[in-house]
Amino acid sequence: MSFNIAIDGPAGAGKSTIARRLAEKISFIYVDTGAMYRAMAYYFLTHQISAEDEDALRKACDDIQIELSYRDGVQNVILNGEDISGKIRKEEVGNMASATSGYSFVREKLLSLQQDLAARNNVIMDGRDIGTCVLPDAQLKVYLTAGVYTRAMRRYKELTEKGVACDLDEIAKDIKERDYRDMHREIAPLKAAKDAEVLDSSDMDIDQVVDAIYGMAVRAGLSSELM
Ligand code: C5P
Repeated sequence: MSFNIAIDGPAGAGKSTIARRLAEKISFIYVDTGAMYRAMAYYFLTHQISAEDEDALRKACDDIQIELSYRDGVQNVILNGEDISGKIRKEEVGNMASATSGYSFVREKLLSLQQDLAARNNVIMDGRDIGTCVLPDAQLKVYLTAGVYTRAMRRYKELTEKGVACDLDEIAKDIKERDYRDMHREIAPLKAAKDAEVLDSSDMDIDQVVDAIYGMAVRAGLSSELM
């Protein structure tokens, strides 16, 4: 049986950085489910389909095929045969992902792919509904959060370092809107699973968070034979 670690939390809480580091440390596969929603959003955007046009979005889903491939432990997202990993990190794509991830047909499209990966491999999977819906039997569930300002500042630094022009207030506004949409949608809203360990990373650095979750995983049964 595989060992699964679910990490959920709002945008900018540091889930992907932490999950990637921890996965490397314990030789697990890191599955970034947000990238799958972003890949769908990228398709909708490049085909000029509006987030409000439910019929067109539903139809488009039939034409979308998403696969994940791993090279040196790094996840690549393949959309209809094309590696689009480098094209899905823009705020525009994240916002479109948030605006379309509430549709049941979008979520259903990705659910079995996510569950199948976790059944076959030891994974650290991050997202919004992993502990609550995708992997309800995960050995460890973590809800990773941080204050809005901290999260906006982290995003701002990340984008500025990449040379992307951005505005801190705009980012904070986007984060608040995204939080609200993700937490209040009808299907699979963002919330901590009842049996999740809640970790607020506002005053912690990356190493401290990785160490804290590693400790939780060991207490949940992670042993050296699994790593
Ligand atoms: O984590 P990331 O910012 O890449 O996710 C983009 C959007 O995809 C989120 O705002 C959320 O609406 C959606 N998402 C989701 N369920 C997941 C992962 C992401 O609904 N498991």
